[in-house]
Amino acid sequence: MATLDTKLIDLLGDRTAKALESGIGARTVVDLLRHYPRRYAVRGELTDISELKADDEVTILAEVFSTNARPLHGRKGTILEVVVTDGSSKLSLTFFNQAWRERELRVGRQGLFAGKVGIFNGKRQLSHPDYELIADGSDVDSAIDQFAGKYLPVYSATAKLPSWKLAQCVKLAVDALDDLPDFLPEQFRLKHHYPTLKEALVAVHQPTDLDQAELARERLTFDEAFLLQLLLLVRRAQLRELNATARPAKLGGILEEFDKSLPFELTSGQHAVIEEIEGDLAQPHPMHRLLQGEVGSGKTVIAIRAMLAIIDSGGQAALLAPTEVLAQQHLRTIRTLLGPLAHGGMLGGSESGTQVTLMTGSQNSASRREALTLAASGEAGIVIGTHALLGESVGFKDLGLIVVDEQHRFGVEQRDALKAKAQFPPHLLVMTATPIPRTVAMTIFGDLDISTLRELPQGRQPIITHVVPALEKPTFLQRAWSRIREEVEKGHQAYVVAPRINGTATADADMDFLFGTISAELTSVEELAPTLHAGALAGLRLAILHGQLPSDVKDETMRAFSEGKIDVLVSTTVIEVGVDVPNATVMVIMDADRFGVSQLHQLRGRVGRGSSPGLCLLVTNAVPESSARMRLEAVASTLDGFELSRIDLKQRREGDVLGVSQSGTRSHLRLLRVLRDEDLIIRARDDAQELVDADPTLFSYPALAHELKVLQADENADYIDKA
Ligand code: ADP
Ligand code: MG
Repeated sequence: MATLDTKLIDLLGDRTAKALESGIGARTVVDLLRHYPRRYAVRGELTDISELKADDEVTILAEVFSTNARPLHGRKGTILEVVVTDGSSKLSLTFFNQAWRERELRVGRQGLFAGKVGIFNGKRQLSHPDYELIADGSDVDSAIDQFAGKYLPVYSATAKLPSWKLAQCVKLAVDALDDLPDFLPEQFRLKHHYPTLKEALVAVHQPTDLDQAELARERLTFDEAFLLQLLLLVRRAQLRELNATARPAKLGGILEEFDKSLPFELTSGQHAVIEEIEGDLAQPHPMHRLLQGEVGSGKTVIAIRAMLAIIDSGGQAALLAPTEVLAQQHLRTIRTLLGPLAHGGMLGGSESGTQVTLMTGSQNSASRREALTLAASGEAGIVIGTHALLGESVGFKDLGLIVVDEQHRFGVEQRDALKAKAQFPPHLLVMTATPIPRTVAMTIFGDLDISTLRELPQGRQPIITHVVPALEKPTFLQRAWSRIREEVEKGHQAYVVAPRINGTATADADMDFLFGTISAELTSVEELAPTLHAGALAGLRLAILHGQLPSDVKDETMRAFSEGKIDVLVSTTVIEVGVDVPNATVMVIMDADRFGVSQLHQLRGRVGRGSSPGLCLLVTNAVPESSARMRLEAVASTLDGFELSRIDLKQRREGDVLGVSQSGTRSHLRLLRVLRDEDLIIRARDDAQELVDADPTLFSYPALAHELKVLQADENADYIDKA
């Protein structure tokens, strides 16, 4: 008899075990059983080829009639065309770059072929169908029965490991399988009417009907969500147990002075979040809080208040920013808002004041030394920086709070590197302007408490967004440039954003990855700026900004722009996050289809920050009805960041959605999809919470505790791999 840990080599022999290991990475029974079928081929619901209609999802029983592999026209790669017949009609199947399939799809072989009917050159075809060949020498019926009865599991297959071979191995494993302990606590299993673990594992591979398969799949998906939530909640409970220095709010210090000098009233949303944060800081346990809020909702001032509260209690705060431009801007903003409070210990500084210093990778060694000294001596209450803050030479006297701005650019690893610089676990405030759906937040930031800022400060102007189809309506683009002129004449400023720096460099390396090859036709900052200067925007004060400029040039340019000495900033996405120049009212984004939905939302958040409305023009060559065009229309149609981030996330691969923060658990998430399975995740979260509340060490649930340990070990292993 076999258990989940039985080695496949002992069960299936040397050769098969080797093939399974190299084919799907399976070494034990559980690895094999967790290789779930992609779909089921249903006998009895087989369709006649003559009746196939376009867009139908079909499964047909047919015989290979002919095959033909040839190179593609004018492109790299091969196309394999396989014609199959059911005796009366024929259908062609096409595979790109999978010529190896010709070896198994030999003329005369029978099998089940499943896929969606498409039309090509007026002919019906299945492109990349799933298929299940019937072993040579078997008659069809007994061959099918041999696998699974009526419902045939169809696995993602490789040359060496066809689907039917996998089905055979699974059958051997299932037949040998002992009773299995079920780690899912019975009360939850019964509540959701789920099968046991063993029932589910068997049914997902060998269902007697599709409802049963569906329920098995749901239970296994739930398992993934439940274990992940449990891991996060246990971690959260453990974090809460750590000792930290309590930093209760003190009256009569820098915070009180700051509040008095604030030029605006805080919104009620800001007040509510501040209360949550102050409550956390007063605890002798570290805060772990995520602050998510719309672009422009006023997160920075909240972070500043938290940092000042720490300073009042004798500690220091570090503010980690994703880019140098943003770090420099934070320095300027914080110094401006603090005024004399930022000159503690200096002539003319305030008595309760502190010092604010900056650490970036490209600063010169003199200013770096100065910053290092200020941080180490404790004189700097606020240390702002990019990744340079994580460097080994950086030390603090008493680091009490870490603020991470725009979290989606930082991984857990970086957070941890900074935490290691404090004697006691510091408090942590993570800010993100990319609001994310609740279940994604639960999955990615499940070990953090979450505060959300929904409202924008009063009097904030709306941003109007239009799509400018440059090819169809060239006059619209002309109009965009004149809108910039009009705004500048009114005393305002403008941004023009382009996806590339110059002929060779893309502004954002992710984009090459996202869109494949670099296309030379994309607008670049270095080409566009002189063109505008000589033409549509002649006479205006233009400057360029991108990541490859030296940091003092970047700093100088941003400073000049924020002081109104530049009318139009032609830039890459370096201005995407956080840049705050309230006098800028219009933004033109070139090749806007090249940017992600959330990125566009971030970008346009740079305008409409003052008392005048903002205008954002999305210039594109994408044709009407194309998916690129629809994305832009979606951005133009709403200002709701939550809505847009859903659209954005739907277009990413699951692994990208989860990002680095869950890389270790990723391999455990075979079925779970964070957007599709929202209900399930919420149920799993509730159950996990109930369990952790009742039994935080899982003392009464040894099987579950074991399962969690396995998951955790994989996470740690993954973490070490990367370090
Ligand atoms: P974000 O949440 O995008 O980081 P910021 O903190 O940069 O937003 O705030 C955007 C702008 O709004 C800043 O100029 C900031 O000073 C201003 N601001 C913040 N809170 C308020 C408020 N309560 N009333 C008016 N203006 C505010
Ligand atoms: Mg910000």
